[in-house]
Amino acid sequence: MGKVPRVRLAHLPTPLEEMSRLKEAMKIEPDLYIKRDDNTGLATGGNKARKLEFSLALALRQGADVVITTGGIQSNHARMTAAAARKLGLECVLVLRGEEPSCKQGNLLLDSLLGARIRYVAAEDADAVEQEMERVAMELSAAGKKPYILPVGGSTPAGALGYANAFLELLGQTVEMGLNLTHLFLACGSGGTQAGLVLASRLAAPQVKVVGISVSRSAQEMKERIAELVGGAARYLDLELEVSPEEILVDDGYIGEGYGIPTEEGLEAIRLLARTEGILLDPVYTSKAMAGMLDWIKKGKLKRDDVAVFIHTGGVPALFAQSDTIAQL
Ligand SMILES: *Cc1c(COP(=O)(O)O)cnc(C)c1O
Repeated sequence: MGKVPRVRLAHLPTPLEEMSRLKEAMKIEPDLYIKRDDNTGLATGGNKARKLEFSLALALRQGADVVITTGGIQSNHARMTAAAARKLGLECVLVLRGEEPSCKQGNLLLDSLLGARIRYVAAEDADAVEQEMERVAMELSAAGKKPYILPVGGSTPAGALGYANAFLELLGQTVEMGLNLTHLFLACGSGGTQAGLVLASRLAAPQVKVVGISVSRSAQEMKERIAELVGGAARYLDLELEVSPEEILVDDGYIGEGYGIPTEEGLEAIRLLARTEGILLDPVYTSKAMAGMLDWIKKGKLKRDDVAVFIHTGGVPALFAQSDTIAQL
């Protein structure tokens, strides 16, 4: 891993903290810990910082001077890419799915503060977004720039390595703290984060179950994407490693009405974590993943002496974009 290109962007290592008050409040038996990847830096923090270290290193290596990426209006990936671009002296163009809102809030407010150029694509289909990114790249090339397109979520094989690294960092922390890690829970969107974790766990600690709680796509679709990314990331490291989709653990039972639409259990998790641990979850990703983990525990899927780590993947700015809902909690 030391041989692949990387730029330093994230504040690492992130802390691993015990959630004893949550455990007590919920009368839970397994020990619960939280990996604070909401504290990675890059205009607040989140999981994209680790991925960008590897994906933007490739952009720099190719001589890029402007990075183009995409996401929803409240994309954390877009905000963090905009911040990383500034730190690396690159320009940034964001192609965001959705209508331009009358009031900029949350991540979108930060995108504009960071000086990213924003284009809105009303269509909800991925093809329109791809085409718009290609069009922007062609325009920039014609103007003498060197654009680099980063796919949605930064979930490329290189980007996934950020989370192979994170797994090793976490494993080191659990060893140091004398913990016998059995389960990892995380929100899964475009799959790169889980792919990196699965890759490293295969190599370093195959007994650990890496459970992705999907926030948008079906479990089957995510398993296929993740398996493909694991293979791609392994090849990027010159390793022979394939996993089949059936070996990947994804639960799609906590999506609710759809991506970005809060669920009742998710909102309850936001309230619970704030009031027991002083930790902020977000309405799009981590609240649904936390609701999923707590439900797994409630249903007895973990044993008394299991040790679960929840990876806090960030997303806090989105809280402010849904302030009407959050204020009700
Ligand atoms: C992007 C994101 C995720 C999902 O990560 P993927 O690698 O896309 O699966 C989870 N949580 C937050 C807060 C995110 O911004």
